[in-house]
Amino acid sequence: MAVIEPVPVVQPPPHEGILRRQALRESAARTYARSLPIVPVRARGLTIEGADGRRYLDCLSGAGTLALGHNHPVVLEAIRKVLDSGAPLHVLDLATPVKDAFTTELFATLPREFADNARIQFCGPAGTDAVEAAFTLVRTATGRTGLLTFTGAYHGMTTGALEASGGARDVRVTRLPFPQDYRCPFGTGGEQGAALAARWTKHLLDDRKGGLPTPAGMIVEPVQGEGGVLPAPDSWLRDMRRITADRSIPLIADEVQTGVGRTGAFWAVEHSGIVPDVMVLSKAIGGSLPLAVIVYRAELDLWQPGAHAGTFRGNQLAMAAGAATLAYVRENRLADRAAVLGERMLARLRELRTHHPGIGDVRGRGLMIGVELVDPERAPLPAEADDHAPAPPPDPALARAVQQECLRRGLIVELGGRHGAVVRLLPPLTLTDEQASAVVDRLADALAAAERSPHRRTTTGPIS
Ligand code: PMP
Repeated sequence: MAVIEPVPVVQPPPHEGILRRQALRESAARTYARSLPIVPVRARGLTIEGADGRRYLDCLSGAGTLALGHNHPVVLEAIRKVLDSGAPLHVLDLATPVKDAFTTELFATLPREFADNARIQFCGPAGTDAVEAAFTLVRTATGRTGLLTFTGAYHGMTTGALEASGGARDVRVTRLPFPQDYRCPFGTGGEQGAALAARWTKHLLDDRKGGLPTPAGMIVEPVQGEGGVLPAPDSWLRDMRRITADRSIPLIADEVQTGVGRTGAFWAVEHSGIVPDVMVLSKAIGGSLPLAVIVYRAELDLWQPGAHAGTFRGNQLAMAAGAATLAYVRENRLADRAAVLGERMLARLRELRTHHPGIGDVRGRGLMIGVELVDPERAPLPAEADDHAPAPPPDPALARAVQQECLRRGLIVELGGRHGAVVRLLPPLTLTDEQASAVVDRLADALAAAERSPHRRTTTGPIS
């Protein structure tokens, strides 16, 4: 008699269940998880290992947070030391040896002229909360309300920060043109575009009947990150410093993403040599854990106790991990390393343009790199149609296809820019030469594959 064998039930791999449950239970507002269906279980340096056993080179780095990559030994050691010491993990904003050491290390990295006369406010642990604190500080100190911000800016998701960002709808802010070469709002690009942007700012502020009351402050990213990796020209930043200083308008540098060596200087303001009145710092300063602060000129310290409060302003593990990260970047001159590697990667990416008409622009500073993808066969954007040599329109569908092809090749990249058409690279500053080559090779390969694929029919929405 034939024995009927039971049919084995094929279980889907556990990571598929996790992803399925995430899709069912988590918010429609989730972002990275949509385009990166990975279940990370282990990570070290540039590499993430998924629950499916696949390994990925992570050039998203926690949206630019991981200056030393994942789980760097000095970061882990610093965290373990606090855990083993029996120190309290929650202390509100009380003084502790860990906080004292973090503050000392942070001040040692800041431009001397700034740090010698600065105060620090520990904020709720997100960049956006520190942005809010900066606004409250300058509004209190000046007694004014309005803010100057820039087109395409990104400062966070809380109300004030969102108002100051490019997606704002309700504004107490005045938006000024941020200079850029590839899609210059004045149609000129280069030094001339930057000079015109500065001139516009000056005229607006000095036009007594222009309708703009003197603002409480100006907030600027030295390199716009989410806006599409747009480095502010040094001369223009110096102009902004001069214009604001002459009119007693505090200048706030948002270095949430550009800080801690990312752009090839420890702080991105060092490229231009400007000394801002307020610096907003987060992401890398917490060594992969949540931490956000503002550091500002002591004369602005006119707010009252509790003017910016919050329960979670004393994250001891983040301060220890952050101090270790800051010290490691400083001692190992990783900012210089980022400058050299960044130039090399930019040069290789620019070479790719010859074979890939879909690459419109390659730009960046240090290890903050963007590749803007375009469709050379379509008409330019209406706003640029009359320019002397208009750039082809952005191609977000190609960008999404490149991101997916990168993932298939074990490379995690971010998308950004006004149209979601900029492929962004934010690798850790500990990247080796070989890893840098591997990243560019995989990206080149992914680009070739995406250009061959029928990506323009893709219908999923962009994330930015
Ligand atoms: N400022 C800048 C320049 C940023 O890039 C970001 C985050 N991408 C923020 C502020 C907001 O930081 P968070 O997401 O931690 O609130």
